[in-house]
Amino acid sequence: MAEHVHVRLNHGLEVSEEGDLIELSRCRCGATWSRSYRVDEGEPER
Ligand SMILES: [Zn+2]
Repeated sequence: MAEHVHVRLNHGLEVSEEGDLIELSRCRCGATWSRSYRVDEGEPER
């Protein structure tokens, strides 16, 4: 198959041991992604 633009389909959510939210996505071709979001329970600090 020719190259295509991956379509990220929502594949679920997980929570890591550290409490981060992990968003799982996958494309029909089998490619997968995982994005982690830090869940801050307080004010954002940088
Ligand atoms: Zn794809």
